[in-house]
Amino acid sequence: MSEQHPTARRRDPRAERAARTVRVEPRRRLVLSVDVVPQTGGRPRRDPRARRAEAIVQSVPRLRLDWTGKAVGASALPTVEGRGPRAASEPVLRVIDDPACLLFAVLDRPDGALSGHDRQVLAAARLLADAAGGAVVAVVPDGGEDLGALGADRVLPLPAAWADEYAPERRAAAVAAAIARWSPRHILFAESQDGGDLARRVAVACGERLFAGVESLSSARAARRAGGGATELGCAPPRLLSIAADAVAPLGAVRHEARRLDPPPEPDGVPALQGARRLPVDPDGVGLGEADFIVSAGNGVTDWDAFAALGRALGATRAGSRVVCDAGHLPRDRQVGASGTVVSARCYLAFGIAGAPQHLQGIGGVERVIAVNTDLHAAMIKRADLAIIADAQAVMPALVRLARERGHG
Ligand SMILES: Cc1cc2nc3c(=O)[nH]c(=O)nc-3n(C[C@H](O)[C@H](O)[C@H](O)COP(=O)(O)OP(=O)(O)OC[C@H]3O[C@@H](n4cnc5c(N)ncnc54)[C@H](O)[C@@H]3O)c2cc1C
Repeated sequence: MSEQHPTARRRDPRAERAARTVRVEPRRRLVLSVDVVPQTGGRPRRDPRARRAEAIVQSVPRLRLDWTGKAVGASALPTVEGRGPRAASEPVLRVIDDPACLLFAVLDRPDGALSGHDRQVLAAARLLADAAGGAVVAVVPDGGEDLGALGADRVLPLPAAWADEYAPERRAAAVAAAIARWSPRHILFAESQDGGDLARRVAVACGERLFAGVESLSSARAARRAGGGATELGCAPPRLLSIAADAVAPLGAVRHEARRLDPPPEPDGVPALQGARRLPVDPDGVGLGEADFIVSAGNGVTDWDAFAALGRALGATRAGSRVVCDAGHLPRDRQVGASGTVVSARCYLAFGIAGAPQHLQGIGGVERVIAVNTDLHAAMIKRADLAIIADAQAVMPALVRLARERGHG
């Protein structure tokens, strides 16, 4: 005969939850202060949802949690003078009046506009600033962009003319002067053609080491591959660091103050390069992987003279799908896609390309895609940021005319 043991009574979590329920409609709310007498002597259950609800700082538009238990709730968040009630979708303005330290994000603005890489540098600076209670200073030639929406607490403008002319030595001297004046804890650059060059010049001017091409960043560690990718080089984030492309995701809905600082006086006696200027290059001479603006043709293109004229008029590098390269309309090294070249242009203008998976694999890193196709349901149209449902043969000469009217080509 089996021996009978006295068993513990089972707890009924549903009954416990019902006892805590305050209001069922429109949304259930729980009062955790009500003591629920457990039906058995078992261990009290943890309620992760309730703990999470207690920790909510602000749920609009992006949930932010404070697990320390000191959450103040949305009503206690600072309001901004001179502004009406915040729209539900508008991010909360974060004002950092008295930062523990400053962090410089030195931005490139290639071709007079902020690049995706610039946004990533701002996000990287934000990451380090938030961990240290600091403020991000965007050091950038004047451009009028809303840098607050990209995470900048302050903006230190450099002369706008420097964006146009090739004056790396003057830029480096100005950044070094700003560093001497504000003593930022970290200075971050984009590891790009111009940003990387500037970072190295500033490192020499300041007599400090640069940790170049950071690929992984946290508040405790900056790291990058070394030895041809066989090893990793890491350390606590140093003062000067340059961020590799696509190492840090740009910030989503944020709003910081972007308060303007007085630009530092231009340093005297900086040795200037004599006669340095940017030379125009043949866009078709640029490797596809490095091209910034690509005009690409697919099987829907039949007017090849118009396609060549469009490339010249827009100053864009010409490329194509495998079908057109197979047919000999373009050389093989112009093929975009899985078995061609993977491109990372800022703009990809596609004429008569269906958007086969092998082709789309080649344009995964492109910032903006514009597609011209007669088929509304083509995969390329779905991938595009801007779609034109029209005959490529009609759109190409129209664009050439427009470009010429505006003084291009
Ligand atoms: C192993 C493998 C690797 C491959 N690698 C690649 C690669 O690297 N790159 C690549 O591109 N492909 C590659 N392909 C081929 C790929 O699968 C497609 O066949 C190819 O991309 C199709 O090219 P397309 O879009 O130019 O032509 P199509 O598929 O013929 O599409 C033509 C498009 O043009 C549109 N169109 C037609 N007339 C007009 C008009 N008058 N005006 C505007 N639009 C018009 C049509 O609606 C259609 O969407 C690969 C295939 C394989 C099997």
